[in-house]
Amino acid sequence: MYHCGPTVYQRPHIGNYRAFLFADLLRRVLELADLKVTQIMNLTDVGHLVDDAEEGDDKLEAQARKDKLDPWQIVEKVSAQFFEDMNALGVQPAHAYPRATDHIEEMVEMVEKLIEMKHAYRVGDNVYFDVHSFPSYGRLSGNRIEDLEAGARLEVNDEKKHPADFALWKSDEHHLMKWDTVFGPHGFPGWHIECSAMARKFLGDHFDIHTGGEDNVFPHHECEIAQSESALNGPFVNLWMHTKFLQVDGGKMGKSLGNAYTLDDLAERGFSALDYRFLMMRGSYRNSLNFTWEALKGAAEARRNLNDFRSRLLGEGGEPEEMNLESLGAESAVAKARVAFRKALADDLNTSESLAALFVLRNAYVHGELDAAEYPVALALLAEADSVFGFFDSIESGGLSDQEIDQLIQERGEARAAKDFARADAIRDELTAAKITLEDTPDGVKWFRG
Ligand code: AMP
Ligand code: ZN
Repeated sequence: MYHCGPTVYQRPHIGNYRAFLFADLLRRVLELADLKVTQIMNLTDVGHLVDDAEEGDDKLEAQARKDKLDPWQIVEKVSAQFFEDMNALGVQPAHAYPRATDHIEEMVEMVEKLIEMKHAYRVGDNVYFDVHSFPSYGRLSGNRIEDLEAGARLEVNDEKKHPADFALWKSDEHHLMKWDTVFGPHGFPGWHIECSAMARKFLGDHFDIHTGGEDNVFPHHECEIAQSESALNGPFVNLWMHTKFLQVDGGKMGKSLGNAYTLDDLAERGFSALDYRFLMMRGSYRNSLNFTWEALKGAAEARRNLNDFRSRLLGEGGEPEEMNLESLGAESAVAKARVAFRKALADDLNTSESLAALFVLRNAYVHGELDAAEYPVALALLAEADSVFGFFDSIESGGLSDQEIDQLIQERGEARAAKDFARADAIRDELTAAKITLEDTPDGVKWFRG
């Protein structure tokens, strides 16, 4: 599967990460079903214009001018930040993260083929796709060419044969990131052709799943289909899946809208990346989700409850055991939870219901209704759940969450200040046992796991 990744001009915000967490979830669920997944996510580092429209600045170049930096420096800085965030969010690395600027050759080849096949035409050093040459244009988004051309949304551009045609290759001598190709000396790719060319290179002409956020449906994915199916003369993608927006006050959260939070904003308020991950698992990718601090707080608490549940089972039940459903009996609480957990995931990734199954099991435990003989299999179920949700704290850290560790460190500082060294040492020992290493630095105490 192929996922539209970040445009690396600014650190992705938590809305972008909703789309990327969905991609990660999808992979994990498919792998739980024993399917072999090849997962590709691109980095858009050129050609994505402000507004997604045909005209306007390249997002990267606009940012470069604003920051008085080289666009390539911005690409490096933001990409590094992106990978750091993905790691903090517990995302399994995709098999490749191709960058658009590393695949110019593949794009040019595809554009040349489209010209040859009369699906595209040159006007000077620019190349446009002729939407009328692709009768099923609009199949994905429902946007018919006639309606588009009648609408006011399209930029007026005298070069195009039809207003709805879109750019495959653009030329601009003032562009900072540009390539000397058969189309001229100062060219750069259109955003849509990037994904068509990279998907083809890594996954072949025809592959299973393509994802993105809901704003990618049109024009981005509609145009990808037109280009790829025309150039390859056959089907492109079997299944399109789009994540609905993370919203703020009922509207889209967006980098350019100034209402976007980063993972640092969350950390400042005491929430970890995994708390955010948990919050995302509470909703369905099919529904937009309004971000509030209250909802995040609820998610953090619920995550802590599940972590505590697992820690207590580990304390009382020892090691997780290989899941053996037959030996459990259908009436066992764990067997029921597992059936409900899997059934919900198989129902279009209904994560909130599969989570609910885990809480039913936890509640049985809390009310003393879970047979101690079932603790090892309950742990096995939680391990299976973790393989899908990935929001548990690592077992090596004694199941301590980031907040709990911060809290303990703060208490240790207070104990030291009050000269209660016995208490301070006891806390240090507790953290050491949980494999948390402390480092006293001039900026305060730093800690890391392992
Ligand atoms: P961009 O960096 O703008 O190219 O966006 C990267 C990905 O994040 C795309 O798949 C977008 O559709 C997605 N995206 C952008 N904003 C949001 C949002 N508020 N909620 C969910 N996904 C988003
Ligand atoms: Zn894309």
